[in-house]
Amino acid sequence: MDDTNQIRRILIVGGGTAGWMAAAYLQKHCRCQIALVESPNVPTVGVGEATLPALIDFVAELGLDEDEFMRRCHATYKLGIQFQDWFQTQHCFWHPFGVVGGEIDGVDLFHYWLKGRRLQRDESVYTDYSLQRTLAEAGRAHRRIGGKAVVRNYAYHLDAGALADYLKEVATSQGVRHLLANVEEVVADGQDRIRYVRFDDGRQVDADLYLDCTGFQGLLIEQALGDPYLDWSDTLICDRAVVIRLPANPRMMPCTEVTGGRAGWIWRIPLTHRVGCGYVYSSRHLSDEEALMELSQFAGLAQMPHDAKRLMMRVGRRAHFWKGNCVSLGLASGFIEPLESTGIFLIQRALECLLDAFPDTSCSQPLQKLFNARMAEAYEETRDFVLLHYYLSQRRDPFWEDARQVALPDSLVERLELFDDTGAVIVPAAAVFPATSFYSIYAGEERLPRTYNPRVDLTDFGQVCKLLDQIKNANQNAIAQLPRHQDLMRWLHEGEATSR
Ligand code: FAD
Repeated sequence: MDDTNQIRRILIVGGGTAGWMAAAYLQKHCRCQIALVESPNVPTVGVGEATLPALIDFVAELGLDEDEFMRRCHATYKLGIQFQDWFQTQHCFWHPFGVVGGEIDGVDLFHYWLKGRRLQRDESVYTDYSLQRTLAEAGRAHRRIGGKAVVRNYAYHLDAGALADYLKEVATSQGVRHLLANVEEVVADGQDRIRYVRFDDGRQVDADLYLDCTGFQGLLIEQALGDPYLDWSDTLICDRAVVIRLPANPRMMPCTEVTGGRAGWIWRIPLTHRVGCGYVYSSRHLSDEEALMELSQFAGLAQMPHDAKRLMMRVGRRAHFWKGNCVSLGLASGFIEPLESTGIFLIQRALECLLDAFPDTSCSQPLQKLFNARMAEAYEETRDFVLLHYYLSQRRDPFWEDARQVALPDSLVERLELFDDTGAVIVPAAAVFPATSFYSIYAGEERLPRTYNPRVDLTDFGQVCKLLDQIKNANQNAIAQLPRHQDLMRWLHEGEATSR
């Protein structure tokens, strides 16, 4: 094989979460010379604290020890999301990770639960069958102190800055070159290919493949190559965020807390050294001042903090995630509000897709097409899933009315039609969220289908009811067998011995 066309040099522009995830991952998997340049004065977005279970594989693939990773990132565990005041005020529902009870005779438990409800034989809410929810609500961990995880499907809450620092150390120790400079000019050849980038100190660097990790501005993919951004702000109407830091809570729960607000929603994410707290809101419905006031009141602060961080959010996605010899990652490739913690996941997905479609220097069009189609699918599924949360809400405030009266994408309309009529949730093998995630949101927001899967009637329902009880009992028993999350965290981060 002719090796003169091989990609030998990769230049990553940007040193936020996307840049350093890319550097560590590609250094592990490709025998290329990798350099990362980051600006000494353009700050990273610095948020991105909640994650999805897929990150476990990323950590393992890099060969990192999970406990060390947790310590370096001030991380806590996450078993799901608790939504408060979302569907209605004073109402709470959960999106737990993992299966909710699993399948019975090949059919998701959701359908048996629905039959039980229709027959008035089941008073439970659907996620009562989730082990993750049961543990999270009881403040219990998914692993024993000193032991490995006994419950799969969990994720992390982490400090985004600490994650980037840790991955920087991992990547540079494996040979990634780290450059500190401002990219002042990106020179393209007029045919979708970047020729070189010029730094503010006069240096010019060229590469065979460029990764644009420059955040919302998309310095390479948009400003140099002119790839358009598909704006989704008419579908997801929140466009701002304000973020504050609260003191650590030693009684931290292993879940992300989301609370519906006047014109958006507030997250609370426990880390070991602080609680991250932010308000995602619509500037059409709330001024920046009002948002900070509402957030401060929510957090129980006597006065508004002076160091709150304000962020403009650009909701949408790139028309082409990969164009010519440039692949965009992270915020340069798109953004969907962080309700379901998908930002870091989408970086990971892009890196996996890039590895599957790794090019030679010709950056073949079919490979670009494949990559772009897979990323478009992931973004669109994420958008639909987040939008579904709003669409099902019954809150009456003007923001909530407007948020659900948007024009739904056809893909979501079709999904809703299928579910409403049959209870079916069909997801592709590479879906971002499994069917159970959709069931949790539908059931949590009391959207129930006309009927359940007819295969349910082929199974003896008396036996099913016994099994359902056993699942709930087994979940309750797990509470007694697993340690408190706060104790696990003390042991993990402070090396403190505890009785259980
Ligand atoms: P950035 O962090 O913006 O980094 C850009 C980099 O480019 C910086 O290093 C900067 O110095 C560099 N740069 C810029 N210009 C130049 C230049 N001219 N020359 C050299 N370097 C340059 N994701 C989650 O998974 N979970 C969450 O809970 C979550 N919460 C979020 C909350 C909010 C409010 C927002 C806005 C996002 C959230 N995200 C979340 C998304 C997450 O923050 C991002 O996906 C992640 O941080 C990736 O950012 P980035 O690296 O693409 O960009």
